[in-house]
Amino acid sequence: MNHSPLFGGIEAGGTKFVCAVGTGPDDIRAEVRFPTTTPDETIGRAIAFFAEQAKGCDLAALGIASFGPVDVNPASPTFGYITATPKPNWSHTDLAGPLRRAFGLPVGFDTDVNGAALGEHRWGAAQGLDTFIYLTIGTGVGGGGMISGRLMHGLVHPEMGHIHLPHDWQADPFPGHCPFHGDCLEGMAAGPALEARWGQRAETFPPGHPAWALEAEYLAQALAIFVCTLSPQRIILGGGVMSNAHLFPVIRRRVQEVLNGYVQAPAILDAIDDYIVPPGLGAYAGVLGAIALAAAEDGG
Ligand code: ZN
Repeated sequence: MNHSPLFGGIEAGGTKFVCAVGTGPDDIRAEVRFPTTTPDETIGRAIAFFAEQAKGCDLAALGIASFGPVDVNPASPTFGYITATPKPNWSHTDLAGPLRRAFGLPVGFDTDVNGAALGEHRWGAAQGLDTFIYLTIGTGVGGGGMISGRLMHGLVHPEMGHIHLPHDWQADPFPGHCPFHGDCLEGMAAGPALEARWGQRAETFPPGHPAWALEAEYLAQALAIFVCTLSPQRIILGGGVMSNAHLFPVIRRRVQEVLNGYVQAPAILDAIDDYIVPPGLGAYAGVLGAIALAAAEDGG
């Protein structure tokens, strides 16, 4: 008999929600995914899924790893809310509250990237590390991770996707796609920016398309900044854009060139293939991260 506690996880994405019940990568007991529509409908479907699951098992806690920006300060009256998001209808939405009220369980809540980072730390590519970053490049660009063994929280949470990078207007006249900043990292390198710049969906670009050299350049510039400012022991790159695995070797080589030998660490100088890596949990990094948030909330 297995008496270890079961957890519910919600990967709350801007385009889809993934809900699962289990204890880890080898033990997902049930899973459902559905599109992110209105808050009422979407949160209602998540509650219905866990209500059905709870008939057959005892859930110890829930975890939510959410798109953002979100309020992750437990002392705040709007803890567990999505705050001012560009996503229509979702600004100032209480995401954790309805789940907590429906089940009376502890609810762990964090950004999607901090959740994924926690899952990678527990089971994936960041095991044994205490300072690393997890960056997702998909419909947006977000970054989280750990510093000295603690998930990155501060004033709010990091917004690594909204830094500004050198922009060569001759090489890339695209003005950027971020509604707040124009040509920030997300505005230049997220999936919607690729689509706006090239007039076709990023999934349709073959490996030799000029979009990829530009994409690798922006990501490498950003990673070099994060190496210099945060000194991560590893950088994990996830998200839909990074499922184009041919980007990895180009990014790695360019990070070495940009740093130009200044950061004297064997991980960068000699072993960069193990330094800039895809998620160890693959496409499950998000929902397993949410389960890890639930386990952490339960004290595990
Ligand atoms: Zn921005």
